[in-house]
Amino acid sequence: MPCMLHRTGFTVKLFNTLSAAQKDAIFIGLASVVLWLTAVEMDAYEAFHDFLEAHEDWELDEILLALILAGIGGFVFGLRRYLERTKEVLLRREAQARADWLSTHDPLTALPNRRYFSVLNLAELQADLQADQLAFLAIDLDGFKKINDLIGHGGGDQLLKTTALRLMNQYQDSIVIRLGGDEFLLIVDADQFGRASGVAAAKDLIKSLCAPMTISGVQVEVGASVGISIYPENGLEMADLLHAADVALYFAKRSGRNTAAFFELSMHQDVARRAELETKVRTALQQRTIMPHYQPIMDLATGNVVGAEVLARWSGDDGTMLPPDVFIPVAEEIGGIVNLSEQLLRKATEDALKWPADITLAFNIAPTMLSDRLLGKRIRRILAETGFPASRLEVEFTEGALLRETEAATTVIKDLVAGGTRIALDDFGTGYSNILQLSELSFSTIKIDRKFVDRAVRDDTQKAVVKTMIDLAGRLGVATIAEGIETAEQRDAVLNLGCSLGQGYYFSRAVPAWKFERLFVSPETVPHQEMDRVKQVP
Ligand code: C2E
Ligand code: CA
Ligand code: CA
Repeated sequence: MPCMLHRTGFTVKLFNTLSAAQKDAIFIGLASVVLWLTAVEMDAYEAFHDFLEAHEDWELDEILLALILAGIGGFVFGLRRYLERTKEVLLRREAQARADWLSTHDPLTALPNRRYFSVLNLAELQADLQADQLAFLAIDLDGFKKINDLIGHGGGDQLLKTTALRLMNQYQDSIVIRLGGDEFLLIVDADQFGRASGVAAAKDLIKSLCAPMTISGVQVEVGASVGISIYPENGLEMADLLHAADVALYFAKRSGRNTAAFFELSMHQDVARRAELETKVRTALQQRTIMPHYQPIMDLATGNVVGAEVLARWSGDDGTMLPPDVFIPVAEEIGGIVNLSEQLLRKATEDALKWPADITLAFNIAPTMLSDRLLGKRIRRILAETGFPASRLEVEFTEGALLRETEAATTVIKDLVAGGTRIALDDFGTGYSNILQLSELSFSTIKIDRKFVDRAVRDDTQKAVVKTMIDLAGRLGVATIAEGIETAEQRDAVLNLGCSLGQGYYFSRAVPAWKFERLFVSPETVPHQEMDRVKQVP
C-alpha cells in the first residue's frame, strides 16, 4: 500500500511539471480512447453504418468524409502549432539562460562578476572548494592603464583575458571573479595561505601574473598587487572578507608595485585616519586655506635676495602646520593637485607682483601633474590672467618626474619656454640621471639637493663630486642653486666650489607673504633678533 501511495504521489508530481499544451494532449487523448472503447463496446459503427444505408439519400457519407478530412487537417495543424510552440519555449529558455549568465558574468573573460559574488554564500564556497578555511585574494594590476594606452583597447582586452587565464590556472580548485576593470578576486583553500607559506604563495601568484606576454607583436609586462583576508579569522560574512582583502590591497599598493599584504586589524584604523585626512584636504581646497609661503633664494656672494621659492603650507584646525609631504600626496590621490597648484600659483603671482621686479618666483610642479600635456598652457593662462611676467617665473620639476614622463615633459617645457618662463631641475642628484641626457630639456637652473650641500663640507672626494656637478652645469650654461644651506660653513663651501645661488634655513625658512615682504623686501626696518628667529635651524 505505501508503495502505491508513493507511486501516485510521483505521478501527480510528474503531471504538475507538464505544460498546459501537454496536459491538453493527454486529456484529449484519454477522452478519445474512452469514447472509442465505448463506441466499440456498443457496436456503434455497425449501427451508424445501418443508419447511413437507411438514409442513402441524405448524402451523409460525403458529409462524414468531409468531417474526417477536416479532423485530419485540424490534427496536423494542432501538431504543427504544438511543435512551433515547443521550439519557441526552448528559444525563450535559452535567451533567459543567456541573460542570467550575462548578468552574473563578465563577457570579456567569461569569469563570474561582482553580482555573482553578491549571491555566493560561504557554505557553498566551502563545499565547492572542499575547504573549511578560505583565503580571499583581492588582486589589482599595476600599470594597466599605461599599457592600455600603449597597445590600445583591443590589446588591453587581450591582456585581461590572459590575466584571467593565469589566475584560473594558478590553483587546481579556486573561484576567480572579475570585480571590474583590472580588479580580480580569487577564493581558494586557505591552507596554501597559512602564516608560514602565505607570503611565498602570494609571491608565486604575483610572479606568474607578471610574466611577460606578447600582444600584437609587442612584449608587455604588467605588475600586480595582492591583498589577502582569511575566513573565518578576518570576517564571517562574504562582504566583510572582501572589504578586508580590499583594505589589505590598499596597503600593498602603497608599499610599491608587486607586493602582497595580509589584512591586519590596525589597517582599518589607518584607512579611517586616511579618509579623515582626505576629507580635510578636500575642505581645505574648497575653502582655499592652503597658502603659499616663501623661502628666499640668495646670491651667495652678495647676500641679496634674488628670488623666492613657493612652498605650500597648511595650518590645521588646531593651528599646527602640516608639511606638504603629508597633504600634497593626498591632494594628488584625490585628484585635487591641479586645483591646489592653480590656487597657489595665482596667489603667489599676486603676492610677488608687489615685490621688486628683480625678485623671481620659483614654483614646484608635482610629478603626477607632468603627465598632463596641457600643463604649460594652463600655467601661461594663469600668468596672463594675473599679469605676472612669464620671465619672472621659474618652474621646478624634479629629476625623477622628468625621467618618468620625458615625453609629456618635453611638450610642457616647450610651451613654458616659448612663453618666456625658465625651467629648473629640482632635487638634482637624487634620481641617478645623467645631466647630459636631460640637457635636451631646455632647463636653465639645476637645484643641487641638500645631501650634496652636506657633502661639500666633508672630505675631498665628496667635495670633488659636488664640484663636478657644478662645473658641468657651468659648461652647459646652466645656473646652480644649492638647497638646504644650514650653516655659514656650508654656504662658504658651495660658494668656493663655484655655486653662486643658494637657499636654506641659514638664510630663512619659508615664511608667509607679509613676513617675506617685511624681512626681504624692506629689511631696513627689521630688528636683528627677528631676523635670527627665521634663520633658526630646528
Ligand atoms: P623641495 O621642492 O625640495 O623644497 C625644499 C624643501 O626643503 C622644503 O620643504 C623646505 O622647507 C626644505 N628646506 C629648505 N631649506 C632647508 C634647510 O636648510 N634644511 C632642511 N632640512 N630643509 C630645508 P617643504 O616645504 O617641507 O617641502 C617639501 C617638498 O614638498 C618640496 O621639496 C616639494 O617637493 C614639495 N612641495 C612643497 N610645496 C609645494 C607646492 O606648492 N607644490 C608642489 N607640487 N610641491 C610642493
Ligand atoms: Ca623645489
Ligand atoms: Ca628640492
